[in-house]
Amino acid sequence: MRIILLGAPGSGKGTQAKRMADRFGVPHISTGDILRAAVREGTELGNKAAPIMASGGLVPDDLMIGIIRERMQGADIAAGFILDGFPRTVEQAEKLDAILAGNGGEPARVVALLVPDDVIIRRLGGRRSCPECGAVYHVESTPPKKEGMCDRCGAGLVERRDDKEEAIRARLEAYSAQTMPVAGHYANKGALYEIDGLGSVDEIFERIETALTR
Ligand code: AMP
Repeated sequence: MRIILLGAPGSGKGTQAKRMADRFGVPHISTGDILRAAVREGTELGNKAAPIMASGGLVPDDLMIGIIRERMQGADIAAGFILDGFPRTVEQAEKLDAILAGNGGEPARVVALLVPDDVIIRRLGGRRSCPECGAVYHVESTPPKKEGMCDRCGAGLVERRDDKEEAIRARLEAYSAQTMPVAGHYANKGALYEIDGLGSVDEIFERIETALTR
């Protein structure tokens, strides 16, 4: 169960990744979460990544590959993983393929969530997240029970810095210029599963499950 989830920012990939990790009993590895934790803790990596993330750009490949190389040594991924937010460039994909080939087992399968740009922009504009526990809400589709407050832990919700309009545009550009070719890379290997990313969380999850178990 080595799965990569590809999708534009706001495609619902984080939500589906968590679901899949629960369903298949493997860790959810989100490079965005790893970077946000490093920023919060003020580590060297965090300090380097913070301004890049805030502008909507991509953190350099060598840093990202270093993070994944280390994470792929964890004993907890013996049965597999759900990778969310990595690889984002063809360079990252090639390095990941080599790392996976090196530690044996099957190559990764790739699920790409397809969502039109206008839907993405609407979704990201209303996204709010909890700085304490990482829960994600949307002011229209999945609002918290009490406005501005996390249902799970009660912390005040925030808008991610990179969910502001200019950063959203930069992130979508980075996605089409640098990450879309990653889908092509895996399509060439016959490892790409394209999934319609419109519909309810349950519907999309079912499509993914069906595609992967067919
Ligand atoms: P995400 O939560 O996946 O949307 O990631 C948030 C931000 O972290 C991105 O906009 C990038 O700036 C950075 N980031 C996360 N994963 C990667 C990656 N694999 N390569 C480069 N930058 C990344």
